[in-house]
Amino acid sequence: MTDLQPTIEARAIPQHGLPLFEEPLSAAPAAAPSKRPIAVIGAGFSGTIATLHLLKRLPADQPVLLCERAPEFARGVAYATGNAEHLLNVRATNMSALADEPQHFSEWLRMRGTDAHEGVHETDAGLFASRGLYGQYLRSLLDFAMRETAGHAQLRLMPDDITDVVPLGNGGFELVGASGQKIEVAGVVLAVGNLPPEENPNPYICANPWGEKAWRPLASNRTVLIMGTGLTMVDLAISIRRRGFTGKIVAMSRGGLLSSRHAPAPFWPTPQFTLAEEKSLSKLMAHLREEVFAAADEGVDWRAVIDSMRPITAQLWSRLPLSERRRFLRHGRRYWDVLRHRMAPPHADLIAHMEGEGSLRVLAGRISNFEATPDGVNVHYRPRGATQERVLPVQRVIQASGLEHIERTRDPLIQRLLSRGIVKLDEQGLGLAVTDGLNAVRTDGSVVERFWALGPIVRGVFWECIAVPDIRVQASHVAVSVVSRLRGRCATVEFYNIGRKQGLLF
Ligand SMILES: Cc1cc2nc3c(=O)[nH]c(=O)nc-3n(C[C@H](O)[C@H](O)[C@H](O)COP(=O)(O)OP(=O)(O)OC[C@H]3O[C@@H](n4cnc5c(N)ncnc54)[C@H](O)[C@@H]3O)c2cc1C
Repeated sequence: MTDLQPTIEARAIPQHGLPLFEEPLSAAPAAAPSKRPIAVIGAGFSGTIATLHLLKRLPADQPVLLCERAPEFARGVAYATGNAEHLLNVRATNMSALADEPQHFSEWLRMRGTDAHEGVHETDAGLFASRGLYGQYLRSLLDFAMRETAGHAQLRLMPDDITDVVPLGNGGFELVGASGQKIEVAGVVLAVGNLPPEENPNPYICANPWGEKAWRPLASNRTVLIMGTGLTMVDLAISIRRRGFTGKIVAMSRGGLLSSRHAPAPFWPTPQFTLAEEKSLSKLMAHLREEVFAAADEGVDWRAVIDSMRPITAQLWSRLPLSERRRFLRHGRRYWDVLRHRMAPPHADLIAHMEGEGSLRVLAGRISNFEATPDGVNVHYRPRGATQERVLPVQRVIQASGLEHIERTRDPLIQRLLSRGIVKLDEQGLGLAVTDGLNAVRTDGSVVERFWALGPIVRGVFWECIAVPDIRVQASHVAVSVVSRLRGRCATVEFYNIGRKQGLLF
């Protein structure tokens, strides 16, 4: 195994602001820790921050192995971009990697002295930084951890694609890398993010909006279709335009709903729902509407009400009956997503400008068929409210409608984990089933004691765990759970309720 050296200089990180290693690591009680490493698979936000929490809590002689198949550690899919126009869709004040240090990222930005040229935008709704800068922030945290633990080599980086995890008789696992490496580990934390969709064999249809195929050159005299009208579409439309495309982009979804724009949103108290409301989607939504009206009466924007739901979303999701959760996915989700996931104001301005000049058209319609042509695709669709189908000839279709169901994945690791029965799907089939302590659950329903998962792959259980403010809490909880397990105890706390009481989920 090769240890990677830090590749990006960690600039001006306020060490006083990093509570990672305040106590000597070796001071932590080391009751019979295994010397086999704890493996973290995936070094995007989830895996990187879970690793930092593990290093903070584990004794120094307990190695942590962070595995990543992409060329860079600590970036993940979202923060690997070098395009300064790709902005975070969450205010900088809510993007700290550490739940107990809410200003950590803002402080990092301040110390770094970045300006708008480097992708920092002061707006009426707060400060929005570029995703590339955020990637640098994450990498600087990882570099810092590598330096701090260099003396005892507690943190090791493994640049490999993990293709299998084989359970061993001793409670541990064997990791199998695509390079042929095999490593015995004491436990596994799965942080693989959103699984990329299987690519379409048609050269003009791109299933993966972040894949190489989506970025091939385009002819400006022919239309491009983006399926989806949410934040991924926004990113794509802005990127395509930035690459010099001057033709027409059509964005289509069933409702044709664009993500809303961030705006100043004062505090609004989290609503209290009755048991009956918690069991019924319609009653929940009716209450929420009332809450929005009540806020409006007091001059408070609806966004404040939506934001007030965040600390209890996971709890509400888990209490809704399965049939109601499915109903939400079918009918409610698209409305929820555009209210909940918002555009940074500079993005909203650019999208409005593109719509105004006619280079972007947002349509509501249902696609019935893609007909392959020699140099593109004829898209058959029915506009909402119309009876007749229409045909839209395009040079490329880019699918950006989000939410892949995990049973369709071709990811070798997930396929093998599922076929071995080490993990099972959540009830909706969105991701993996886990306990409140983030332990995986086997197909037979038993808990996998030394196997944890966090981030978007467990969104079917918690729903609200795809963005930094929620994942950072999970990352800390995973570390607590791992440490308890290594010490032979079971972490029985109800994490999400604790998060709620401490306000950690804000
Ligand atoms: C374009 C985009 C913009 C976003 N913007 C924001 C934002 O502004 N604010 C916000 O809070 N959230 C944002 N998000 C949500 C984002 O998903 C989370 O913030 C977070 O980055 C998720 O991190 P992750 O580590 O779980 O997943 P990922 O970033 O997907 O990282 C998973 C990592 O695991 C690696 N991996 C997967 N399988 C294996 C394997 N078998 N072996 C080795 N490595 C493996 C992958 O290569 C990848 O690097 C955005 C998401 C996207 C896609």
